[in-house]
Amino acid sequence: EKRALLERLLRSGGTLAPVKLEEHGTFKALRSRLSVVSRWTEVHPFFKAQEGVTRDTTQIGGRELLNFSTYNYLGLSGDPRVSAAAKDAIDRFGTSPSASRIASGEKTLHRELEEALASWLRTEAALVLVSGHATNVTVIGHLFNRRDLILYDSLAHNSIVQGVTLSGARARPYRHNDLGHLRELLKEHRADAERAVIITEGVFSMDGDIPDLPKIIELKREFNAFLMVDEAHSMGVLGATGRGIQEHFGIPSSDVDIWMGTLSKSLASCGGYIAGSSELIRYLKYTTPGFIFSVGLTPSNAAAALSALSIMAEEPGRVAQLQRNAKLFLDEARAAGLDTHLAMGTPVLPVVTGSSFHALRLSDALYRRGINVDPVISPAVEQDKARLRFFVSSTHTPEQIRQAVQAMAEEIAKLPARTSVIGETLS
Ligand code: PMP
Repeated sequence: EKRALLERLLRSGGTLAPVKLEEHGTFKALRSRLSVVSRWTEVHPFFKAQEGVTRDTTQIGGRELLNFSTYNYLGLSGDPRVSAAAKDAIDRFGTSPSASRIASGEKTLHRELEEALASWLRTEAALVLVSGHATNVTVIGHLFNRRDLILYDSLAHNSIVQGVTLSGARARPYRHNDLGHLRELLKEHRADAERAVIITEGVFSMDGDIPDLPKIIELKREFNAFLMVDEAHSMGVLGATGRGIQEHFGIPSSDVDIWMGTLSKSLASCGGYIAGSSELIRYLKYTTPGFIFSVGLTPSNAAAALSALSIMAEEPGRVAQLQRNAKLFLDEARAAGLDTHLAMGTPVLPVVTGSSFHALRLSDALYRRGINVDPVISPAVEQDKARLRFFVSSTHTPEQIRQAVQAMAEEIAKLPARTSVIGETLS
């Protein structure tokens, strides 16, 4: 072994780096995981190319399938009015802002979108960035530092965790939605930190459940902490008119210090936003690295989000239909004896299969029956919590929902025992 190491060292010119990047263990681990996936499925489940807009249905390989894999919650991606607004923005402003906004990439459209978002969310101001993921990473990473304390839900999205790591703050995840645990952590660590911030989501992206925000607000007050809420899956989804978790609980917007959301779900576009006080937004506009050193949001994306926002406000029936569909899915799935885990009737609906093997086999079987739904397997979720994650949209019909649940119940009953693949794991 020593000799092999010596030879490798010589070959690599004195460093211990692998000779080729692709020889690193992480590449090998992926290769072996993918080969297990392809042995367990007939159709490779990842990167299936969709041939058009994804709403209640999608087209893959020339075939029309029922679609439960995308978060086009209000069906506004593909709406002719939203598409027309995006095309018009291209004609007026071009396809790129061609500069950072602070340096002449600012378009009148950016202002219009930010004003519309702030007024919709009832905050003083808002700021849009080019990606939802990057928004969390750069804003959390930039706002907090090693003298601060960040307490975040243990099921928080990867972008939040990345931002927390980047900040260098003392960070502690609290058990999912366990506010007793959050309180214990605040008691233990708050006094040692300059500032403390609690970060949670409006609707959790893997489980579809909602945190008890009024109780979190009480804790934030008691311990003099700030509160940030990621509304990626709750904006356009919760509340009678889709204003999100503030409307769901009837709390004033000012109870949350930092509202974060994405333009990629209900708003039928791409990008992220932060909303809050004018002072917060001005500070972020002049100092956040991922905003200052990055190009502005494209005109077409800004226009699409602006148009989707105004349609959402004018047609609250879409939100109501989305909520009815989500509830119907949950009721039907429970009645069919499916394990919907923490689901609460939001449009994010997990059906837990336990093992990754079963999740992959089930999604494969449904695909062959003409239903597109993605498996979520370890390490994205815990090993024994692999699942199919259904996204329900306002465009689904009750028949489509019943058909999917029935097909799933039938296919679950047919699943082979896990023992047939002993020795192969996806850990
Ligand atoms: N936050 C949450 C909770 C998410 O689920 C996601 C992605 N789906 C993001 C942030 C990142 O948003 P985007 O995909 O728009 O970059």
